[in-house]
Amino acid sequence: MLSLNKIQPGLNGLAVLDRDVRAPDAGEMLVKVHAAGVCGTDMQLYGGAGAFAQRLKFPTVLGHEMCGTVVETGAGVVHVKVGDLVSLESHIPCWTCRACRTGRAHVCPHTRYPGIDIDGTFAEYVTVPAAIAWVNPPDVSREKAALLEPLGIAVHATLEGGGVSGRAVAVNGCGPIGLMNVAVARYFGAHTVIAVDPNPKRREAALRMGADRAINPAAESAATAVRDMTRGEGADVVIEYTGHPDGVHNCFAMVGMLGEVRWCATPGRSMEFDFGAWRKSRPTIRNIHGRRLWETWEAAAPLVYGNRIDLDPVISHRIPLAEAPRAFELILAGQAVKPLILC
Ligand SMILES: [Zn+2]
Ligand SMILES: [Zn+2]
Repeated sequence: MLSLNKIQPGLNGLAVLDRDVRAPDAGEMLVKVHAAGVCGTDMQLYGGAGAFAQRLKFPTVLGHEMCGTVVETGAGVVHVKVGDLVSLESHIPCWTCRACRTGRAHVCPHTRYPGIDIDGTFAEYVTVPAAIAWVNPPDVSREKAALLEPLGIAVHATLEGGGVSGRAVAVNGCGPIGLMNVAVARYFGAHTVIAVDPNPKRREAALRMGADRAINPAAESAATAVRDMTRGEGADVVIEYTGHPDGVHNCFAMVGMLGEVRWCATPGRSMEFDFGAWRKSRPTIRNIHGRRLWETWEAAAPLVYGNRIDLDPVISHRIPLAEAPRAFELILAGQAVKPLILC
């Protein structure tokens, strides 16, 4: 089968290879992949730096977001059957540690990932534990079903803490998940949604996703703009997707008294943080990781099935598997939002 592999450490190191299909062991399923999204984690692996990249063995098929059809199941698989149209939860929790056994499998410290620890989804077929399958109705858009995993992070961030209903929300950083978060916050009842991103393509997409305003933090003070739109109060909820120290500082400048910063992106390096200023404005910081299993999926999937939010502006490119490395180059060049690899 055709597959996109990381074959050596360092920058790039990608190759489209013919690899064998692996038959499913007990508890596993073999899935024919229809579409698979390229995300920030894949870009880290492409870049070759960071903890995930150090875990890779070579060759490994990259990719973890996807929609496909189950073509074979291993022994003991009961909740998934051949012919099911599935999306994948990208976390493979251990299901036995304290986090897993207390309903918090999304933060399992032993989590493994397709596309890092086992072969992933940029391939014609993928073999994964059936326990991470989310079964879709047969008639759902395959491309949109491939976006359920990243959409889940936006839904998780939106529903945590006090939610967003009747609140002013700032989405700081409008990559694919930030863009989805604009639409999700709108859907769940935010009265004001403000997008912040220096990239003009992303700001334009944010407006199409339903943002009231898209701010360029490189050209104006995001904090001033947000306060202008909120009678000087600041945002009730700021959702952080930049992972950059400047972006983090912006979050705390935009959030209002007793507001919430829901923190989704991990800064790539250590940074200074003014706890004195934090004490004075008293926002709550919520640490958002992955999707709650499976509450977040139950909240996210109907948004796609019922076309309650429009994900079209997020899908910027459709690229055949044989040309998959081009998707990474487009993202690096700032020209792509979310490329889908068609497998
Ligand atoms: Zn991802
Ligand atoms: Zn666990």
